[in-house]
Amino acid sequence: MQRVFVLDCHKNPLMPCTPARARRLLRQKQAAVYKYFPFTIILKNRVGGDTQPIQAKFDQGSKVTGLALVADFQKGKTVIFAANIEHKGQAIVEKLLQRAAIRRSRRNRKTRYRKPKWTNAMSQAQLQHINQRPKGWLPPSARSRLDNISNLAKKLLSLTPITSFGVENVRFDTQLMVDPTISGIDYQQGTLFEYEVKEYLLHLYHYRCAYCHGLSNDPILEKEHIIPKSKHGSNALSNLALACRTCNEDKGNALPHEWINKLSQSKTKINQVRLTNFTKISQGIKPSMRDAAVMNSLRYKVVDTLQRFNLPIELGSGGLTKYNRTLQQFPKDHWIDAACVGQSGSDIIIPTTLIPINIKALGRGSRQMCRVDKFGFPRTKAKTKSAVQGFKTGDLVKAIVLKGKKQGTYQGRIAVRENGYFNITTKHGLIQGISYNTCRLLQRNDGYQYSNHKSLKQLGETR
Ligand SMILES: [Zn+2]
Repeated sequence: MQRVFVLDCHKNPLMPCTPARARRLLRQKQAAVYKYFPFTIILKNRVGGDTQPIQAKFDQGSKVTGLALVADFQKGKTVIFAANIEHKGQAIVEKLLQRAAIRRSRRNRKTRYRKPKWTNAMSQAQLQHINQRPKGWLPPSARSRLDNISNLAKKLLSLTPITSFGVENVRFDTQLMVDPTISGIDYQQGTLFEYEVKEYLLHLYHYRCAYCHGLSNDPILEKEHIIPKSKHGSNALSNLALACRTCNEDKGNALPHEWINKLSQSKTKINQVRLTNFTKISQGIKPSMRDAAVMNSLRYKVVDTLQRFNLPIELGSGGLTKYNRTLQQFPKDHWIDAACVGQSGSDIIIPTTLIPINIKALGRGSRQMCRVDKFGFPRTKAKTKSAVQGFKTGDLVKAIVLKGKKQGTYQGRIAVRENGYFNITTKHGLIQGISYNTCRLLQRNDGYQYSNHKSLKQLGETR
């Protein structure tokens, strides 16, 4: 189980306790439930208490960000709470495209004349001024990702005595990459440097085979020597590429010109693609590092965001995270990666009983005034007030229906209807038409949906 967050009677965070202790406190009426997700209790007559250092660690990804709270106990650094945060990402992109399409069709319809917003008479300078994006502008999907992380950090700070943060600031350590004393020198298998190199290559070639561009459908990507090691090829970055296993085996230990010869004799599509790409790479023409720099700059934004909380931040590279996780033989998941971030991630205890939670960003309703049909015409009436009988869509409720067809107890998020009969999304499915007067509010909608996630045991512990 996860640890339970504890507040004192002034709502100051105390050290999270075990679920067993929380149950006892609740049974003895010394505490009350403060929040259901993440589960938090509030003590009725206690102020202050001893706390130990807790680090909140994040492993940001484009779709899912991992979170782990690591407490510095005597037995070692232990994960006491973990979560995967699902970002809205693609959903935002789709909504924006949908909005643009509706607006376009509305402008093109037979409507009254509207004066153009922008005219050709505007000077180029004026236009540029209008189009200029404010400083620190981010694409909406990236902005929402960043907001999810800072919201959650803020929420956790009010529930636990967090003393520091941990986050990746770079995918790979560029400083290690350009170090002339390292590049070219034969390094050992399984070292941190090798992990950094792999991350670098994955990034440089956009997570796909540099030769066939993913045509072979082989998911295994490996570090590849352009001039084979057996033919005295060096370990320098300039001699390395990323190849899928299929391409790697096809190339074997052929020298560049030998493989080019072999490929040019074949007419299959995959070999044609390989030929074009490999010819370029063997001539030293590689993708630029600038793309990778942009990705790293997004990582820095997360660091900037966390800096606002005025707590120490431990930084690490993506290579280091992967190295730490592999060395400790943990399975791959975002919350586990989060625990392995930075130097302190090299020695982590993850209790097998820990059940992480899944936090899905859903937003708070919609700004669209009414739904439209496929032609862009209004399909529903304009939206009305969002609160019905004190309930709002997304609230977590418990409904006890005593009689009738719907008899039973239901718990879940509601979708409110103006007539007072709500829909409840429970663990077992959607229940429709539940009257508001059977519902009891458990927790207000905070824009996130919470559910249990796979534990270490369910992920298939590799130890
Ligand atoms: Zn390939």
